[in-house]
Amino acid sequence: HIKAQGGNGFYFYSADMNVASSQRLTMETQLRRALERNEFVLHYQPQLSLHSGRIIGMEALLRWQHPERGLVSPAEFIPLLEETGMIVAVGDWVLHTACAQNSAWMAAGLPPLRMAVNLSARQFRQRDLIESVNQALQNTGLAPEHLELEITESIMIQDLQTTITTLNQLHELGIQISIDDFGTGYSSLSYLKRLPINKIKIDQSFVRDICTDPDDEAIANAVISLGHNLKMQVIAEGVETLEQLEQLRAQGCDEIQGYYFSRPLPAEAFAQLVRKSLITVKPV
Ligand code: C2E
Ligand code: MG
Ligand code: MG
Ligand code: MG
Repeated sequence: HIKAQGGNGFYFYSADMNVASSQRLTMETQLRRALERNEFVLHYQPQLSLHSGRIIGMEALLRWQHPERGLVSPAEFIPLLEETGMIVAVGDWVLHTACAQNSAWMAAGLPPLRMAVNLSARQFRQRDLIESVNQALQNTGLAPEHLELEITESIMIQDLQTTITTLNQLHELGIQISIDDFGTGYSSLSYLKRLPINKIKIDQSFVRDICTDPDDEAIANAVISLGHNLKMQVIAEGVETLEQLEQLRAQGCDEIQGYYFSRPLPAEAFAQLVRKSLITVKPV
């Protein structure tokens, strides 16, 4: 509802729009080159079991190592990758890189961990998704149970029959499936029982005030019982404090992920953290 308020107002408005669209074009051009220039990088954030206290997996999170701007966060470029369809090629790179990394860590003597990879709706709708996932596993020698794909509720509302077919195929491959940002989308609960889903991720917006807001506590409780009654694991995202961790543990949550334990880390730092935490829990 921006309105021209005389010549000047309109002039400034359209000039701003030109700046915005030319910045967008520059970014699009740079993103197109980013893959071949090897500018994408994955960071890994540990996921901790509240039952054993151990790191049991990690989520691969994409970053763009921009030649001038430094490390750019996904919120700034994933929407553009999605709009342009480039997310399919980049997503394929993410899948291969994450599987290769997990395989390499196991070969290097780290305990078996589960690698979670985010899948965009556009990627999920690709005709050759199953083939790509299979390729990534074959090429890297990773066992399917060590891969988890994170999907969002938006996938479920688009075309339920295709979603069921695709998820069943992934499930048959032996891959784990989780629902990311649970509670923020539009999924109908009846979908949950029809889909082969292993894990629900409680969105961080419900975790933030879980210790002070009874509504958030009630939502977390409901999601945890729903998940458990449907034989799913429940993980909480965005856990930043010990108080939140204790609250979630008391509510029966299975796993946590968040800054309290660790931020997403570059590969080498992640491996070091895993080695270090193995030593601290080893009996004397
Ligand atoms: P997400 O999948 O929900 O990932 C969790 C986000 O929460 C990550 O942000 C992570 O760094 C952040 N986070 C983790 N712990 C905490 C915490 O304790 N406090 C707070 N405030 N934040 C925390 P990031 O890395 O910036 O990624 C943002 C989103 O970008 C992701 O949300 C995901 O939707 C998307 N994304 C990231 N990598 C990929 C990818 O490879 N493919 C696709 N399709 N999307 C990706
Ligand atoms: Mg995720
Ligand atoms: Mg999430
Ligand atoms: Mg999110």
